[in-house]
Amino acid sequence: MNASFKYIFDKLSTAYPEREARAIARLVLETRFGLTQVDICMGRERTFSLEERRDLENIVKRLSQKEPVQYVLGQADFCGRTFSVAPGVLVPRPETEELAEWIIRDEKASEFSSPHILDIGTGSGCIAITLSQELPQAQVSAIDISPQALAIARENAECLGVAVNFRCQDILDSPSKEQDSPLWDIIVSNPPYICEHEREDMEENVLRYEPSQALFVPDHDPLLFYRAIGEYAVKMLKEGGRLYMEINRAYGRETARLFQHLGLRDIIVRKDLYGNERMVRCRK
Ligand code: GLN
Repeated sequence: MNASFKYIFDKLSTAYPEREARAIARLVLETRFGLTQVDICMGRERTFSLEERRDLENIVKRLSQKEPVQYVLGQADFCGRTFSVAPGVLVPRPETEELAEWIIRDEKASEFSSPHILDIGTGSGCIAITLSQELPQAQVSAIDISPQALAIARENAECLGVAVNFRCQDILDSPSKEQDSPLWDIIVSNPPYICEHEREDMEENVLRYEPSQALFVPDHDPLLFYRAIGEYAVKMLKEGGRLYMEINRAYGRETARLFQHLGLRDIIVRKDLYGNERMVRCRK
């Protein structure tokens, strides 16, 4: 076995299950130190400079403390692209890739030639930037309450060479006051949707390191953001425009009922790759 792989794996094996420790060790060697999977499997060695050895020790220390590997490496993959991530933004999730892919598929089959798209709570910018790259005719805007998140999103847009119009805004703060005529063909959002009481089922690495502002809603109002964004969509989507949202798997039916009540139509709730009701699409 490759010695550096064994070093990382051994250090992580008390804190992580074996498979996860292996996957993390491979990811670290690949992304940070340029070793390929084949190098690792074949036991090919590579010399580490003193500086690299210090870097590796520091990485292993942070990982042992359960910091998400994406923060430690400063990057995460989303829909085949690499995004910078840091503790101020949520690590992009595979289920969110499915939400973005749903929009891309719909849009490629639809009649809008150059859709105006808004991403609410953009975080790292992964959805907005992916849409902007995959739908070159689209004009994409994105908002977030966090200036720290917007700085990361802007950096990602620049690195990936797309023009997204980012703005600091709180969607709960009546954003529709400033504009009255419908602006958007598509609104998308992966808002906070985990209830406080669900904390106990969550992984330590998420709870300790990811921004709680991007994750949690009060127990007494699990659909807080769905109501605000639904109302905004009713007002600001163009006729026939579509709203896509990631949802809490426990609230699929309630979310659909809320959107129906707001007057949105053609509501579809979809399952993610894990079989959980995880996203909704509806139309104005
Ligand atoms: N899917 C994320 C998680 O399980 C939550 C994302 C969100 O709250 N929008 O941690």
